[in-house]
Amino acid sequence: MSAKKINLVLKIALGYPLPLFDYLAPHDTSIENICIGMRICVPFGKKEVIGLIVEKGESTLPPSKLKAALSLPDTFALFSPEMITWFKQAANYYHHPIAEVIFTGLPALLKKNLPIAQLLSTRKSRLVQATPPKLEHNPLILTQEQEQAISAISSNLSQFTCYLLKGITGSGKTEVYLQAIERCLPKQVLILIPEIALAPQTCQRVIDRFGEKAAIYHSQLSPVKKLSAWHAAFSSEKQIIIGTRSALFLPFKNLGMIMIDEEHDISFKQQEGFLFSARDMAIWRAKLANIPIVLGSATPSLESLHNTHLNRFVPLVLSERPNEAMLPSVKLIDTNLEKLNQGLSHALILAMKKALASHQQSLLFINRRGYAPTIMCVQCFWQAKCPHCAGRLTYHLQYERLRCHVCVGAYQPFPTHCPSCQSPKIKAIGLGTERVESALSHLFPNAQIARIDSDTITTPKKLNTALDKIHSGESQILIGTQLLAKGHHFPNVTVVGILHIDSGLYSTDFRATERTAQLITQVSGRAGRANLPGTVYLQTALPQHPLLQAILLGGYDAFARYILNERQQTYLPPFSHLAIIRAKGKSKEALVETLSYLKSHLTCQQEVKLLGPIMSDSSRHKDFHQAQLWVLADKRSALQLTLKQLSDFSPPYSVKLAIDVDPLSTY
Ligand code: ADP
Ligand code: ZN
Ligand code: ZN
Repeated sequence: MSAKKINLVLKIALGYPLPLFDYLAPHDTSIENICIGMRICVPFGKKEVIGLIVEKGESTLPPSKLKAALSLPDTFALFSPEMITWFKQAANYYHHPIAEVIFTGLPALLKKNLPIAQLLSTRKSRLVQATPPKLEHNPLILTQEQEQAISAISSNLSQFTCYLLKGITGSGKTEVYLQAIERCLPKQVLILIPEIALAPQTCQRVIDRFGEKAAIYHSQLSPVKKLSAWHAAFSSEKQIIIGTRSALFLPFKNLGMIMIDEEHDISFKQQEGFLFSARDMAIWRAKLANIPIVLGSATPSLESLHNTHLNRFVPLVLSERPNEAMLPSVKLIDTNLEKLNQGLSHALILAMKKALASHQQSLLFINRRGYAPTIMCVQCFWQAKCPHCAGRLTYHLQYERLRCHVCVGAYQPFPTHCPSCQSPKIKAIGLGTERVESALSHLFPNAQIARIDSDTITTPKKLNTALDKIHSGESQILIGTQLLAKGHHFPNVTVVGILHIDSGLYSTDFRATERTAQLITQVSGRAGRANLPGTVYLQTALPQHPLLQAILLGGYDAFARYILNERQQTYLPPFSHLAIIRAKGKSKEALVETLSYLKSHLTCQQEVKLLGPIMSDSSRHKDFHQAQLWVLADKRSALQLTLKQLSDFSPPYSVKLAIDVDPLSTY
């Protein structure tokens, strides 16, 4: 027995995508007095680094080969055994080194070898409180559907259930969150929202309702503010934290409920490094803690809808807007039948004129920023392409430059001559927000126009200023991208124009149709939110497309049924489980060779299909090529068994492999 004890070592995560490292306890501390989940300072190469203790166990190395850890900055564990279990689950599911999983949400300051109390002892650590016009301080009188949803959620607060709150835009989902939270206090609640840029209104409502009890957490906070929010969750000083993806990793002392607003949003999936879905990890976390979790959306993901059909999630429905506010009516405008005026149809222009005359607002959505997405030679059809990724360059009037939207920093002046045939006839083709803005300023010279895209909105403050101008009525016509499409309430908007969604209908990404339907529904949802009825003008060259017809006749539900049926026929998620093995590198041949080798050497159960390798659509990205191998399985366990074999495989030095489990984009 005693011989065994001598061999017990600490298995430590160091934050890099590497396995756990074995260390002996520091010389002055006995291993029995050290807890899993504590920070620890260890020698690593020539440096001293902070790691996290994940396990105690035996080492395969002889004691003489092991180094002793140096010191323990804290006297307590940062993470409960439950959280460590959760990290391990995620590492297994995503086939990602646990060392990096654990460090994903850890505030950078905790990598310093100082006690937390000392790291926090600065005035700058005061938590940000959003500053209150106060909107709606008091709980609203609930509609019957809201009351039913809240009763269901709070009926059993000490049991895991995943609820899908399916409420049309403007149906009062946020009020359901707020009052369900109230019933959960004093236990802690985590509210996850997609993007901080879209958060000001939701955050504000949470702060207005709960004041000092609530705090905001997102990745753009300063290091010390991050740490103090982290500590406020850890110490239960704050009961409610509203934040983006990274808030999921906060070590709540007494978590009682999780809410995920806009659960379908793709920003819940991390796109680099550790490719996790915050929604799915939140569900596992709720399950481990045995607490309810609420996924809310007007346009739920097909996965979540499917899960309600399988009785894994409990559906809660808000089918109406309170105060008799009506959903807008949708009109399809066939753009084949008329010559558009700068991209705008006659009917849309007329409706905007009427809205202006009656002091109402119009909102135009176009999912493309810049002036024009294509720069072409009229003589020889040469197109301006990015030298790094071969994608098309977009012309930006604001910067007087061509820019690549993939490779940041790839700027060029507008060409004076075609580099291929020397012709001076170069044209900007297609529409972006800037071009629509300039068209509108000619059509409506006296109107105040607000353009909301990531070129005009570079800080949260700018977004707030822009939103204030919209709410006060100073801005009469709004034009923008996704930034404008989601989450906002513009009670005085009665006309919505959707200008360019056709590419989403024939994309090679099988998820594109789902996103398009979500966008159409979300954008449409901005109109007619108060007592003014709204109309949506959807301009398309494909008015007979079955997807548009489904949305037109039966809304998002009809669309979802249509697409789910299609996915079942084609054996795609959620009717199968998909992982994409992505290979990245400078040589196409090496990528294809590596993936072909994998394809022929992976042993798969019968129901697993390996598809590929194929070069990815945006196959060059910042000078790198990308190839994919798809792994499709009808059972999750079969998928996992296949992927597990990759840990024994080391690709050639020039090829980087990444496993994307449950990918949200197939590019
Ligand atoms: P959603 O999140 O579903 O889009 P919100 O929760 O933002 O909708 O609610 C839309 C609007 O309806 C908000 O202005 C909100 O204050 C109002 N509202 C919500 N619930 C009620 C209610 N029970 N009675 C009156 N107004 C309500
Ligand atoms: Zn030319
Ligand atoms: Zn590029």
